Amino acid sequence: MGNERHTTLGIISVIHGENGSRFPYSNTLFINDEMKAVIDTGAGEAPLSELKQNKRIDLVINTHFHFDHIAYNYLFSDSANLINERESKCFRDRRNIGVNLGIEEVYGSEEVDRWLNRISHPDTRQSPYSPQNNHKWWLSTTRFDGDYPWGHVFDFGKTKMHVIAAPGHSEGFCCMYFPDDGIVYVADIDLTSFGPWYGGTDGDIELFIESCRRIEILDAETYITGHEAGILKKREFQTGLDIFLEKINERDYRVLAALKEPVTLEDIAGQGLIYGRKYHVDEWVYMWNYLMTKKHVERLVRLGQATQNDNTFVQK
Ligand SMILES: [Zn+2]
Repeated sequence: MGNERHTTLGIISVIHGENGSRFPYSNTLFINDEMKAVIDTGAGEAPLSELKQNKRIDLVINTHFHFDHIAYNYLFSDSANLINERESKCFRDRRNIGVNLGIEEVYGSEEVDRWLNRISHPDTRQSPYSPQNNHKWWLSTTRFDGDYPWGHVFDFGKTKMHVIAAPGHSEGFCCMYFPDDGIVYVADIDLTSFGPWYGGTDGDIELFIESCRRIEILDAETYITGHEAGILKKREFQTGLDIFLEKINERDYRVLAALKEPVTLEDIAGQGLIYGRKYHVDEWVYMWNYLMTKKHVERLVRLGQATQNDNTFVQK
């Protein structure tokens, strides 16, 4: 049955990420079938190196392009590396990572080039608050072997894995569903206390909610999150999901309260309503705080609770 680093659920095992699978680590799935596959490579160097020493890995499949799900792709240099077809552009040309994460919108396209230069060097100074300067971004996006569409069914021998579209967290985000085993890997529908993340320019609040509601009614008894919670029974997942999605409403209230007087997006973002101000020293945390705040302001306008005049927003 494995040690504390693994939980075996038949042919499928969970390799628990380091540090309790807190970001930037995540849980990795290992499919020990005729075709041996790894789903997401965020568990950490030690557990994944150990796996690689003991098993032949044919396929590495990334659910999406975010750092914490691709970080250790580079360890699997003998395996074919696949990502969803909407985000394969991020592996074909790394500039698209910078575009999707928001660098181009918030800091301009030249900053995307400066960022690529920073991650190309292994000795760039790291930020304590985000993996923005991590050289693994570079290493793990060097190779690309193919993509898969939403709806695709992987056949590993005895096990079949269905790719379930779940956009909102990122443009091509998907959950991996094993109908014969009653298992679904939900990756970043992770039920963390932070709440849903849709900070990239490709993130979308309404799509995030819709995707969650589709995932929770899959015919599955076991839900595996990418972070923290880990392996949950369906009922636990559904209860946790309601609390998780409620964070979106809480953010709406906080942002709406900040619109008592007309304010610009920069003014509201500076208040640190999503990520606290002390973390804004990291340009990427500020960027995600700005973009998530902006999405809430735009949502409040769509819901008729706020209105825009030139570059300011105010409660209706
Ligand atoms: Zn993610």
